Amino acid sequence: MNCPCQSGETYENCCGRFISHQTRAENARQLMRSRFTAHVLKDTAYLSETWHPDYRPPSLQLEDRVQWIRLDIINFCEQGETAEVEFEALFIEGDRVDALHEKSRFVLEQGHWFYTNGEMLEATRKPWKPGRNSRCPCGSGLKFKRCCAK
Ligand SMILES: [Zn+2]
Ligand SMILES: [Zn+2]
Repeated sequence: MNCPCQSGETYENCCGRFISHQTRAENARQLMRSRFTAHVLKDTAYLSETWHPDYRPPSLQLEDRVQWIRLDIINFCEQGETAEVEFEALFIEGDRVDALHEKSRFVLEQGHWFYTNGEMLEATRKPWKPGRNSRCPCGSGLKFKRCCAK
């Protein structure tokens, strides 16, 4: 399958390498992408283990109604043992598409990158209801009704 982070790679050659523990993310950008993919796959174990223990919530619940469909990385900057990734992610909830715009922070500890926390930024678009015959907001080029609309 194509990797849900939309890198254009297969899942096995992209986020799957990290989620299946073959190797560790080399930088915060890779970790960010793989955590997005874990949200799509609802892999809470991976989300927990890549979340720094000082910041991780005691239990992790994912919203069943939320379907993540697109990730755009806007900015990535790494300085020594900290990094920031600004992204916008689209999700479907009910019949609406909404955007999460966040600046996520990461730290490098003993050679491994961890997510710490994030700062919510104003989304560049308001929630909207795509027409069933319009192009899918995930960017596949297909009609919404033939793609992410369920
Ligand atoms: Zn990926
Ligand atoms: Zn789609």
